[in-house]
Amino acid sequence: MTLWPAWVEQLNHPESPLQLETPLIQLAGSAEESERMQQLASSRPDSGLQFIANDSLEQADPIWPQAGHGAMLSKRDGRIDPLQLLRALRRSLIQHKVELRATDVVELQRRSSSHRRHWQLITADGRNEEVDLVVICSALGSTKLLQCLGHQRPMDAVLGQVLELQLNKQAEQWSGWPAVLTCGGINLIPHEPDRLWIGATLEPGLIADPAATETMKRLNDLAPAWLEDSQLLGQWHGLRARPRERPAPLLEELEPGLLLASGHYRNGVLLTPATAEWVGQHIDKAMITSS
Ligand SMILES: Cc1cc2nc3c(=O)[nH]c(=O)nc-3n(C[C@H](O)[C@H](O)[C@H](O)COP(=O)(O)OP(=O)(O)OC[C@H]3O[C@@H](n4cnc5c(N)ncnc54)[C@H](O)[C@@H]3O)c2cc1C
Repeated sequence: MTLWPAWVEQLNHPESPLQLETPLIQLAGSAEESERMQQLASSRPDSGLQFIANDSLEQADPIWPQAGHGAMLSKRDGRIDPLQLLRALRRSLIQHKVELRATDVVELQRRSSSHRRHWQLITADGRNEEVDLVVICSALGSTKLLQCLGHQRPMDAVLGQVLELQLNKQAEQWSGWPAVLTCGGINLIPHEPDRLWIGATLEPGLIADPAATETMKRLNDLAPAWLEDSQLLGQWHGLRARPRERPAPLLEELEPGLLLASGHYRNGVLLTPATAEWVGQHIDKAMITSS
């Protein structure tokens, strides 16, 4: 919450606009969760958290999913459009004269300590390069590169599907809706007067299950009629990299000059600035040590 507003200010540019859309509201799924939310909001008065009682939620328009236990409003939380973010990062990298190459690293080799440049990268476009420092951030592709160097960091794929829905007339007004409404771990994001994104499923493996989107759309039987009656406009899916038997993310200095910043599972966008800060600090440290 501290880093994101500063990042948005720095990255926002007429050619690649970027905003942080706020706030986020998370519905409580049980009386216990509601109790925890109330305690959290009162113990952190400066955090922008506010508990909303159920009576206020029932007056929302269009009618929200009703779990009956109130909700947490987080005023400084929200959403960044991930495609706009990628465009903004790409523009900033080019401005900083970072060379971008769309190719795979097929092998990473450790050279003997007598070499000034300690690492050798072999890329799919046939290049062979010697470098001082490597940051591995290739999600599911990281495991193979690390294995050749004797580091075991297995990760599993967890597939996520998202639906874009066209709503019927009753749900056209979004007044009072937050940038993101979260219900049982599913995000509801309005993005046009009558359109909504809903996501994402959590499916082990690489193959999307059509039944999983149906279950998601029912919101654990809390879906209002306007959501149930909506029409499918589009859908997509992606893979998250979840570290096996280790918590996400994997931020490690594995050897001098070899950093791993990957395995972000469900929070890679949220953690982008924090991960970048960790990487930056470790690069600075490595450069000072080697000079
Ligand atoms: C449906 C869905 C919804 C999500 N919602 C959220 C959310 O609300 N909030 C949030 O914070 N996160 C969310 N995530 C998770 C988030 O997208 C990931 O955590 C994030 O993308 C991880 O970023 P990454 O750069 O580490 O990995 P990735 O985005 O997986 O990128 C890894 C890149 O490495 C490249 N690569 C692989 N192997 C090699 C190689 N050998 N050489 C060179 N390049 C290689 C790949 O081509 C890829 O471009 C969601 C994910 C999905 C699928």
